[in-house]
Amino acid sequence: MTTDAARRFASLAVHAGQDPDESTGAVIPPVHFSTTFAQDGIGGLRRGYEYGRSGNPTRTALQMQLAAIEGGAHAFSFASGLAAEDALLRAVLSPGDEVLLGNDVYGGTYRLLSRVLGPWGVRLRLVDMSDEQAVRAAVAERAPRLLWVETPSNPLLRITDIATLARIGHDAGALVVVDNTFATPALQQPLGVGADVVVHSTTKYLGGHSDVVGGALVLSETHRDGALAEEIGFLQFAVGAVSGPLDAWLTTRGIKTLAVRMERHSRNAAAVAAFLAGHDRVARVYYPGLAEHPGHEIAARQMSGFGGIVSVALESAEAARRLAESTRLFQLAESLGGVESLVNYPDAMTHASVRGTEAAVPVEIVRLSVGIEDEGDLLEDLDRALRV
Ligand SMILES: *Cc1c(COP(=O)(O)O)cnc(C)c1O
Repeated sequence: MTTDAARRFASLAVHAGQDPDESTGAVIPPVHFSTTFAQDGIGGLRRGYEYGRSGNPTRTALQMQLAAIEGGAHAFSFASGLAAEDALLRAVLSPGDEVLLGNDVYGGTYRLLSRVLGPWGVRLRLVDMSDEQAVRAAVAERAPRLLWVETPSNPLLRITDIATLARIGHDAGALVVVDNTFATPALQQPLGVGADVVVHSTTKYLGGHSDVVGGALVLSETHRDGALAEEIGFLQFAVGAVSGPLDAWLTTRGIKTLAVRMERHSRNAAAVAAFLAGHDRVARVYYPGLAEHPGHEIAARQMSGFGGIVSVALESAEAARRLAESTRLFQLAESLGGVESLVNYPDAMTHASVRGTEAAVPVEIVRLSVGIEDEGDLLEDLDRALRV
């Protein structure tokens, strides 16, 4: 079996769900574009496949790979990260339930909860998830149904101790969800330290090449026989925000190189963070790999690398906007996690939807997604852009 649980991350990423094609021996399993599957007599399904929304072998392969690399019991892939989040939230929440959300989560997650699920009766409270006492106080005040954290967070790279958060959540009877998009399972495995569900925008590092939008949910072993997997599987089928076959295949191909990419992203980002920390035009650098980062010790324990995202505060909003518009190798674009370096001005781009709310991002902040290009070229580009 290629999903041999004893194998380690880099091997699982390459082999899980990727058994050679039975009929031809093709080492890369074919992409199954068929929308429907011939039945051997009415209801005589081969391996359960019936119709492209309810199941597809290429999607199954991706889901096996996702479960293996996160150390989970079940995985579900979706058309986008937000579609995955929506399925999870609908599976878990009823009107009147409350979500306790990190106060610097992805803007789209906040928007989904406040503007789509809010009108259906879901309630929302925000807290700084990296502040353990604040989380304890918020949970003691009123037990939420669900705790949602991003660590490292976006874009301020705050770090939360997942094991502690899971204990606090479980003591209150809440489901503990970690958006693992920034760290990826190559660097951090939340299910292994107590989280119930991992969420991904596979659009980012898992796909890794900025050429496919997708999302995923992975459930921990605690939920192996639980009703949650059944409910999510039902919503994946009944709502239908599934990944198409080519999207699923591109994501699988991306994941195979995740381990080597994350090493290089982390190395380049560390170099960028150190360079910016010593630059006279930079007010502050946010990178969990820096010893002065408030979450550095937890990150060093919880992660096997510090990842590829670096945020910087400039002296003013004008200086931040100027940096974002002056780099050449770092391209000005939303998103992150691809092999190419990107620069983003959160206040007006990725986080425009949370402007003026308690989840707003300071206007002096620029976020860098450090790619896998040559380190010297990246530093030169930033230095030149900072002097414009
Ligand atoms: C991009 C992103 C999402 C949303 O994913 P989409 O694939 O864009 O729908 C969720 N969480 C984080 C941390 C992200 O960066």
